[in-house]
Amino acid sequence: FTIKMDDLKLLEELGKGQYGTVQKVYHRVTNVVMAMKEIRLELDETKLHQILMELDILHKSTSDYIVEFYGAFFIESCVYYCMEYMDVGSLDKVYGDGVPEDVLAKITTSMVKGLKFLKDELSIIHRDVKPTNVLVNSRGQVKLCDFGVSGQLDRSLAKTNIGCQSYMAPERIRAANTYTVSSDVWSLGLSLVEMAGGKYPYKYDNMFAQLKAIVDEEPPTLPDHFSNEARDFIAACLHKDADKRPSYAQLLEHPFIKKYEDVDVDMAKWANDAWAARLAAKK
Ligand code: ADP
Repeated sequence: FTIKMDDLKLLEELGKGQYGTVQKVYHRVTNVVMAMKEIRLELDETKLHQILMELDILHKSTSDYIVEFYGAFFIESCVYYCMEYMDVGSLDKVYGDGVPEDVLAKITTSMVKGLKFLKDELSIIHRDVKPTNVLVNSRGQVKLCDFGVSGQLDRSLAKTNIGCQSYMAPERIRAANTYTVSSDVWSLGLSLVEMAGGKYPYKYDNMFAQLKAIVDEEPPTLPDHFSNEARDFIAACLHKDADKRPSYAQLLEHPFIKKYEDVDVDMAKWANDAWAARLAAKK
């Protein structure tokens, strides 16, 4: 089915991104509540059509570790991207003072499986792995969003993506446009350190000092109360030399993942508690 604006009822604003807002919407035709991301672009129709065509590969196969894509359309020069609604929200808003090791292990497994799926099934490098782009629902599922599916969309957004916190790997800072799968592995490692410790790990508030630290300093590590397996996993992801970082297949075999593979962690409880804590903090 194709989604049209006329079939959507706007419910509430879920958040503001760099390029537009994300809204909770109800699709009357299918009875599905969705999240709709508005991306404001200054593009001609040909390019907008190209973006929609490129997004179409997302209909090809789906994964439990990727936020489901329902469809996209454009009105004037705005692209509207409709996806699965994740009711707990992004991880940056729910990690609080840091997540416990067992929860971190499950988040890690989902993220690695999601990244591996993108690479193996869709030949996509994510390019923007960070806690904001990892979403959680009240069933405790953890899924990736905002990956670089459409080359045209990525170019149009002109990724001036240098926010106040960088998840860029050292090699990307040293030489712009060098981007490989391993750069995503770095961003994964950095995101995990942030979720474990409850804060972005580089402390510099000035962007230049922060980028310099990423290139020159020793990579961040997990807080002391984490196991050696967990610390080793992070150290492997945050290898300064991109060629020494493990592949996704290797990461899935790592003792940190294996240690929790058969442990039943109540992710739904964690997600619901985190959501409640976030609500309480807002009041
Ligand atoms: P950014 O540009 O910072 O990556 P986004 O535009 O992707 O941010 O999203 C803004 C906010 O909207 C997110 O932080 C998240 O809380 C919310 N959001 C995005 N996608 C969804 C979704 N599928 N379900 C629920 N909330 C979402």
